[in-house]
Amino acid sequence: MRKPLVAGNWKMNLLVADAVKLANALKPLVQDVTGVEIVVCPTFAALHAVGKALEGSNIAMGAQNCYPKESGAFTGELSPQMLLDVGCSWTIIGHSERRQYFHESDAFLNEKLKFALASGLKVMFCIGETLEERKSGKMNDVLTRQVTDGLAGLSEEADFDRVAVAYEPVWAIGTGVTATPEQAEEAHRFVRGLLEDQFGGNVSEKVRIQYGGSVKPDNAAELMAKPNVDGSLVGGASLKADGFAGIVKASA
Ligand code: PEP
Repeated sequence: MRKPLVAGNWKMNLLVADAVKLANALKPLVQDVTGVEIVVCPTFAALHAVGKALEGSNIAMGAQNCYPKESGAFTGELSPQMLLDVGCSWTIIGHSERRQYFHESDAFLNEKLKFALASGLKVMFCIGETLEERKSGKMNDVLTRQVTDGLAGLSEEADFDRVAVAYEPVWAIGTGVTATPEQAEEAHRFVRGLLEDQFGGNVSEKVRIQYGGSVKPDNAAELMAKPNVDGSLVGGASLKADGFAGIVKASA
């Protein structure tokens, strides 16, 4: 059994005081939830304060990105070591907004992934096709490339305890258009097959594949009911404590 992983990506939203307020509002709403791993990913600026607010709770914290060096002349970047220092146990890598707006390649994301894991972080590694790629029949090719190149070089057992794959069709992110549970299941099954081809059955059976793209409290349960959907990565709906708590509970 794979334990569902539900993560909120707060993106570039909330000043520190509002981020702490959201974390504090969320804590009592999910404190009795068992059987779901819960993560929130605030902005870099709010990590330290939110990390303090979450101490002793059942909510872990993640960053939205990291740079694959420990320290040095990399203006504007943060290392995994710095993220661990402020209380992160997770980071997102390869979100479609990083791929699209910041032109992060599969090779660079693979470098980040390996460095983050070696540094002790757990990673939600995002993949997903654009609408154009889906419509032109290239979805499977895109997912194959993102999985094959993005996860290249990971070592079977050790690394995959700490990696989740987030399938996030780009056309469903922030658009209000959710993949149907059938579309999500089809893509997740395909990705699990890629993992099996690349890393074998033990890995493919244990890796959690989250769905992301306009997940809301009222569609989370039907997505989670699919056998290959092991949680969600939630953007917009994670900015409201009751909405995110509803998604967490629907995933339990
Ligand atoms: C995301 O940012 O990963 C995401 C899925 O956003 P939203 O839930 O708003 O579509």
